[in-house]
Amino acid sequence: MVFIVFMEKILNYINGGLQEPVCKQFMINTSPATGQIIGQIPDSDAADVALAVQAAAQAFPHWSACGVQERSKILLKLADLVEKNLDALAEAESLDNGKPLKLARTVDIPRAVQNIQFYATAAMHLHDEAYYTEPQAINYTRREPLGVVACISPWNLPLYLFTWKIAPALAAGCTVVAKPSEVTPLTAFLFSKLCIEAGLPAGVLNIVHGLGHKAGQALVENPDVEAISFTGGTQTGKKIAQIVAPRFKKLSLELGGKNPNIVFEDCDFEKAVQGSVLAAFSNQGQICLCGSRLLVQKSIYDKFKQAFLAKAAALKVGNPALSEVQVGAVVSEGHYNKILSCIKLAREEGGKILLGGGPVQLPAPNDKGFFIAPTVIEGLSQECRTNQEEIFGPVVTLMPFETEEEALQYANGTEYGLAATIWTENLKRAHRIAHGIKSGIVWVNCWLLRDLRTPFGGMKQSGVGREGGFEALRFFTEEKNICIKL
Ligand code: NDP
Repeated sequence: MVFIVFMEKILNYINGGLQEPVCKQFMINTSPATGQIIGQIPDSDAADVALAVQAAAQAFPHWSACGVQERSKILLKLADLVEKNLDALAEAESLDNGKPLKLARTVDIPRAVQNIQFYATAAMHLHDEAYYTEPQAINYTRREPLGVVACISPWNLPLYLFTWKIAPALAAGCTVVAKPSEVTPLTAFLFSKLCIEAGLPAGVLNIVHGLGHKAGQALVENPDVEAISFTGGTQTGKKIAQIVAPRFKKLSLELGGKNPNIVFEDCDFEKAVQGSVLAAFSNQGQICLCGSRLLVQKSIYDKFKQAFLAKAAALKVGNPALSEVQVGAVVSEGHYNKILSCIKLAREEGGKILLGGGPVQLPAPNDKGFFIAPTVIEGLSQECRTNQEEIFGPVVTLMPFETEEEALQYANGTEYGLAATIWTENLKRAHRIAHGIKSGIVWVNCWLLRDLRTPFGGMKQSGVGREGGFEALRFFTEEKNICIKL
């Protein structure tokens, strides 16, 4: 299949076919790097969600019972098709999201392939337990797929996070209704065409496009949806939790972060500078794991600051399609304005802008795009809003600290607890700090190094539950114990 991604009229994928929303209403999809219209998105509502849930419910008995080998075979075929279409999918992702094409080609789409491959094979290794209750009984536990589940994913890593959710759900034997972010629907739509090509049975996966508060909320509220796997902002997560709590649905929430990146005086200096720049500005700072609070030990603060600023200033901001570009457009006009207002707030709070601090004006065809310069701010207190609230853009604050205790106090001093990075060559210190940090993930002398078998998720306001490895397969299944009297 060859994709033509320009001016796509995106359709919902329901019961194995592509269809317009029931209301026939569409929204405009624009490219954030040019401001140009690139297609139309269904403005789906509860009626489309109901059709999708119905199709998923009908598909469930066969899909859950067909056996893990059968599911694995189809999913591996799907992974192959994604890999075959890597270039076209990467182009679509970059066009829709504004991220550098190179990043989409080397990270987003390859990771989508890995997600599907990983769960297509992991499900074959999930095993049940048995207990011999000597001498009178044997117990065995069965992991049964939940039924119809909802997967709701954000815009920052569109196909990457979309597949990270649907792959374990499908592999576990659930049928899925997924809602990608309306801001970046393109690769999920192209993916639905690949599902048809792979022979995924009708109704096993359904993709409903539309607004979060409309289509997304209808999905969460639907009584026939057994579980919700959500990745997105903390406020949306709270709203979803309130809706599903009285219904006792299973819920996995991967939410925001305000992650500390802690640089000790005994670090490998060059690696720490390089890694901190990556952690701050990759994907325009729009990764929940980005190190947006850079804490640097006082003894090396000035030297580190100069080196960090030099590297950040050298980042090439520009047309995402160009291979030398490292920083593309932020995802939308709304998000662009939000980031600029956060920088304004940082100024009002007394922050000193050391680098960037505003838009980057590019020549045509990117003159109407949403580009923001990598921005570095210092002189702010730990308690101010800039250091407490997630910005989710190419903005990092610099703060000095003196002791390990102070570093830990700053690191843990927000409501979030998703990820942290520590730069030190002292192994004992690395363990001490890693154990003291309240976050679900701690990287030592690296950032975003991922092994898909490891648990992934946040503490505090960064979420509930873990994705990754067998955890995700357990989430989409429920244990039943069967006790047999001997
Ligand atoms: P949002 O919370 O705005 O949206 C996430 C998804 O939820 C989108 O598909 C959105 O649809 C949908 N949605 C919005 N409102 C509702 C609702 N009431 N009911 C059901 N679904 C709804 O997050 P963003 O898309 O803005 O993503 C950025 C956020 O995601 C950041 O806070 C970031 O930290 C977090 N994130 C967390 C990750 C993690 O693993 N912990 C990973 C990546 C991002 P639509 O967009 O169409 O409105």
